[in-house]
Amino acid sequence: AKLDGRNRFVMYSAAIRDDHEDGLALETELREAIRHGEFELQFQPIYNPRSGTATLAEALLRWRHPRRGTVSPEIFIPLAERTGLITVLGSWALGEAIRTALSWPRSVGVSVNVSARQFDHGHDIVGLVEALLRMSGLEPHRLTIEITESSLIDDPDRVVARLVALRALGVRIALDDFGTGYSSLSYLAHLPIDTIKIDQAFTQEIGTSRKADSLMNAITQLAHDLKLRLIVEGVETQEQLQVIEKHAVHGIQGFVFAQPMTADELLPMIGNRVAT
Ligand code: C2E
Ligand code: CA
Ligand code: CA
Ligand code: CA
Repeated sequence: AKLDGRNRFVMYSAAIRDDHEDGLALETELREAIRHGEFELQFQPIYNPRSGTATLAEALLRWRHPRRGTVSPEIFIPLAERTGLITVLGSWALGEAIRTALSWPRSVGVSVNVSARQFDHGHDIVGLVEALLRMSGLEPHRLTIEITESSLIDDPDRVVARLVALRALGVRIALDDFGTGYSSLSYLAHLPIDTIKIDQAFTQEIGTSRKADSLMNAITQLAHDLKLRLIVEGVETQEQLQVIEKHAVHGIQGFVFAQPMTADELLPMIGNRVAT
């Protein structure tokens, strides 16, 4: 048993070392990838049930690695956050998303994920967004910035001040992954945001549990009272869609309509009515 235990320990530490070395390799490769432009944005349309068209699309980063294939943002975003490279990558994503949206109908906006670290003291996110909007000429209301509650943990006052400044430019703010954090209702009422996006973990419960359905009622009421737009994401099935369409939601996003796709693939899909 002793020997077994030791062997297991050896295996365990070797696994950690491998992970660590792979992490270091990946970090070096991430720096290279930024220099070589190996990143691409995909876009997932968000349908507005009232118009029956996509009036917004979320930009999602992809890393086209020459040997590893497509690396998931679930892997490289946390790495980019740890190494601080996220400010460079995130700035690129903002510029690229805005540039892409310029070729869309003016009724269609673009929603961009922004990490907590892009609100760091040393990074002027407000100045960046202001400059990008001015250079591109994109109407500010066509840009939505998605943040998560984790952005507000370190220094809520600073982040809130920056959100206020971004909104003063005319940009919209969405609270992403709603329902996964700790947001109390009173806290939500005081945040300078325009939209809440219901997390897909919650969406998965819709139609299968009664609790989810009554929570859905409560959330729609809350959004209405606080004058917030409501987007439901991760909608995969017709059953979920049917339940959601009974509620007053402003946007529906998920595989039931479309997967994330390249900008070229998205273009013919936006502005047109979708059959459901
Ligand atoms: P997120 O912001 O919550 O984005 C939604 C994720 O759900 C995307 O995964 C999307 O492809 C996926 N998704 C969409 N519809 C469905 C559905 O019906 N079912 C399921 N199961 N999944 C669906 P993706 O593209 O792999 O991105 C993962 C996460 O990486 C994002 O989660 C976001 O947190 C982060 N991320 C992606 N792009 C960026 C970026 O440009 N900047 C930052 N900071 N983070 C990003
Ligand atoms: Ca998001
Ligand atoms: Ca989300
Ligand atoms: Ca998520």
